[in-house]
Amino acid sequence: MAGKKDSKSKKKAATSPKLTNICHKHSISEEDIKSVQTNLLKWYDMEQRTLPWRDIAKTEQDPNIRGYSVWVSEVMLQQTQVATVIPYFNKWIKQWPTVESLSMADVEDVLRTWAGLGYYSRGRRLHEGAKIVTDKLGGNIPNNVPELMKLLPGIGAYSASAIASVAFQKPVGVVDGNVVRVLSRMRILGSPVSQTQVREHLWDLANKMVSPARPGDFNQALMELGATVCTPQNPNCSSCPVNSNCSAYLMTKDHKVCSLDSFMKKDVQNKKVLASKSNNIDVPDIENIGECSFCLPTSVWHENPQVTAFPCKVEKKSARQEKVTVLVIKRAEKLFLTRRPEKGLLAGLWEFPSCIVSEDSDKGIKSAFESIARELGVPTSVLSSKSFVGEVIHLFSHIHTTYIVNHIVLENSVKMKSTKKENMWITEEEFNSAAVSTAMKKVLAIVKKADNPPKKEVKSKKRKLSAEDSKQTSIKSFFK
Ligand code: SF4
Repeated sequence: MAGKKDSKSKKKAATSPKLTNICHKHSISEEDIKSVQTNLLKWYDMEQRTLPWRDIAKTEQDPNIRGYSVWVSEVMLQQTQVATVIPYFNKWIKQWPTVESLSMADVEDVLRTWAGLGYYSRGRRLHEGAKIVTDKLGGNIPNNVPELMKLLPGIGAYSASAIASVAFQKPVGVVDGNVVRVLSRMRILGSPVSQTQVREHLWDLANKMVSPARPGDFNQALMELGATVCTPQNPNCSSCPVNSNCSAYLMTKDHKVCSLDSFMKKDVQNKKVLASKSNNIDVPDIENIGECSFCLPTSVWHENPQVTAFPCKVEKKSARQEKVTVLVIKRAEKLFLTRRPEKGLLAGLWEFPSCIVSEDSDKGIKSAFESIARELGVPTSVLSSKSFVGEVIHLFSHIHTTYIVNHIVLENSVKMKSTKKENMWITEEEFNSAAVSTAMKKVLAIVKKADNPPKKEVKSKKRKLSAEDSKQTSIKSFFK
């Protein structure tokens, strides 16, 4: 019991806010909020991109259809760029225009339609969510943040706020990667976003800034600004609609060789200081400014006195390297596929029999192929006629995978014993529309290329001129 109590109190200690000095530069005044709302919405009305889910959210009368389309778009946009998502979204909505129609779909069809977007568990959870809405919520999509997060799988704080504000006009802010960048620059937040307090502060800012009259448009405008103007490397500050409210921009503009210290000190002389999450901390004097938890260290600013110094850079973990053996088996013009486990990477998708190479050596690769043979229940001797086709490299966000591809054509008489995994034989045409990952499509492509190598051009050899040739009359002489 004591252990339980300990872990509970530890958890409490880890989540409770610490007393933190935060100088006022990281907050936003009512005056600035009004100005940001007006300028940003004006810009958005003129510059917004036409996106299919926006059109539905704007014109559709049925709140459930609005909620459903924003939900689908938000799930697709997690980890995927807008341009990639558009055709997938259009196809999806054509296939399943309502949450009810999606709830009745076969999960295999769902994965097939999702194929190519990556992170397949997103499609699966969307399907599960549609079933929950239809079976348990009377067909009504929750219209507020707490219920969206509680009742629908795969919906976190960001997606819930986006759906609630864009589809149901709830006055809640959103914080995604683009908003983190814009707000960090506007309020010169110099601490890593991985810190809980920084994230909480960003959410506070977003919630304070959102326009109560047009919350959905305001949130989309802020995200759009981050995607198109306040970009990571080359922000276009001179044409930014909120540059007059952006502290990072003002620092670089007004203080050509700007010192963060002088900027902070000058400002503090005029304004009162702020506070902490837990209220009424003593107002720090100028000497305390350096202790502000959110300020960028002066040395970092001196190194890069540009708006791009914000947000604070966190070194990315390098992707894990992984080798996987793959065996493409063909028998009577059909391909053999097994299904991946229901959980984890590429959950539930079909693939050619594969095995992770545990030791990066010839021995390790051989043993991985033997493991595939055991898994399939065929004698290792059968696999001795396999041929190496080549390697395929595929990048998942956190794994750099090299597939070592081998191919084998089996006689009709060779039978597989039942494998533990679900499996099937399909034609190539069926493969193209099956729920398979992009990596497996690349694998099949190199096998086909190896089977049908491009024909070599036969260069016509120049015939040596013979004595007879030299006697031939020229065309000029002919006309003469
Ligand atoms: S002024 Fe520049 S840094 Fe500031 S929000 Fe606009 S684009 Fe971003």
